[in-house]
Amino acid sequence: MERTLSIIKPDGVGKGLIGEVVSRFEKSDIRIIAMKMLWMTKKQAQGFYAVHAERPFFDSLTDFMSSGPIVVMALEGEDVIAKNRKLMGATNFEDAEEGTIRRDFATDIEKNIVHGSDAPETAAFEIGYFFNSFEIIGA
Ligand code: ATP
Ligand code: MG
Repeated sequence: MERTLSIIKPDGVGKGLIGEVVSRFEKSDIRIIAMKMLWMTKKQAQGFYAVHAERPFFDSLTDFMSSGPIVVMALEGEDVIAKNRKLMGATNFEDAEEGTIRRDFATDIEKNIVHGSDAPETAAFEIGYFFNSFEIIGA
């Protein structure tokens, strides 16, 4: 069993896609083991995306991620990191496969609806960034 962190980004929440994204997880046998809505400060967004601090898009990305409410979820399942990233599609929606969340709903390389952890180490950091053990089912 593996865990990953999913975020429905401010554009996804703004476009009314919470139900759509959750529904895709439920239909894919991905178990939601923690979930909440919150609005990050710029500082919190900078901490979350610290790995990208040197990238040219860091300032814009952290402005975007703190521009409105997000929904964060911890997901559990077999191979769930890769499974979630497959459901999300490529970072740039133009390169994303048909039927993926980003292909279906994103309009911008930055405003791409969802986030998903990319490895077990980043998943552990990212889940711990938003949830304590009392908030995770089965923890
Ligand atoms: P995420 O980490 O959000 O799941 P990802 O792993 O597909 O996305 P990363 O390379 O980790 O992509 O980039 C993190 C986020 O930074 C992207 O989801 C996107 O919002 C933004 N981003 C990535 N590359 C660019 C870029 N070239 N220009 C603007 N924004 C970008
Ligand atoms: Mg990433």
